Amino acid sequence: MNVAKRIQELKGQRKAVVLAHNYQSPEVQDLADHVGDSLGLAQIAARTDAEVIVFCGVDFMAESAKILSPEKKVILPESEAMCPMSAMCTAMELALFKERHPQAAVVAYVNTSAAVKALADVCCTSANAVKVVGRMPQKHIIFVPDRNLGAYVQRFHPEKEIMLWPGFCQTHQGISVEEVQEVRGRHPEAKLMVHPECLPEVIDLADHVSSTEGMIKYAKASEAREFIVGTEVDMTYRLGKEAPGKRFYPVPSAVCPNMKRTTPASLLRALETLTPEVTLPPDVIKAARRPLELMMEIGRGN
Ligand code: SF4
Repeated sequence: MNVAKRIQELKGQRKAVVLAHNYQSPEVQDLADHVGDSLGLAQIAARTDAEVIVFCGVDFMAESAKILSPEKKVILPESEAMCPMSAMCTAMELALFKERHPQAAVVAYVNTSAAVKALADVCCTSANAVKVVGRMPQKHIIFVPDRNLGAYVQRFHPEKEIMLWPGFCQTHQGISVEEVQEVRGRHPEAKLMVHPECLPEVIDLADHVSSTEGMIKYAKASEAREFIVGTEVDMTYRLGKEAPGKRFYPVPSAVCPNMKRTTPASLLRALETLTPEVTLPPDVIKAARRPLELMMEIGRGN
């Protein structure tokens, strides 16, 4: 029996839903029930009737699904699929930093471990970071872990003093001005969309800066027919499906190796064995849920 057919069969037997992040390979995206960004997928995880959630992504995403649906079994098919940027901010380091800045609010990007979220006042995504920081009553903000996203948010909030954690995403940080100019040279008519995890000088070149879901909205609404996609290369696959007839060009170096660890074979194995399971201590789940829920409340407001 072929892998895709067996995966479909097992999904039914295990009462499982398969979620895949926008940066997963096209083969994995095609096997998923839902494809999206980390927060959108965690929200689907919280609403689903499925008993098992198989999260094709990286560690912090599966943890967020577990925090929002603690009664469900959450499986991360590749236990080594870990986000290096999330690992750049540990709970111990953050606790020490907080002690030195008791007046500051901690805003944790969702790309953090559950233990770090548990220490935060609020979480944010790349889609709502500007709004979330603006809603915090404190003038001083500790923004973890992505210095590029934090610096981007600072552009919109000159009234805030944002302390930037020295973390970065190696995939987005690696997108250079030279490489973008080279792709632009080949596609002079294309609009340049970039993710706010990119370097400030790359952001300065863009026609549009947004999260991955924001890129889909922009590409659909735009009159342009061609786009350069300044984020992980496989985002172009999702964009091509969502906006057929338009053309999407990747920045070739922007590959996240951790996102590519999950394969159809590892998804199959995960469904067969229901491992590796994501587990978190109940007190961490409880403490990490509060900043995630506050973020979602802010997101629902104007
Ligand atoms: S693309 Fe960057 S932020 Fe996303 S999982 Fe990979 S390293 Fe982490």
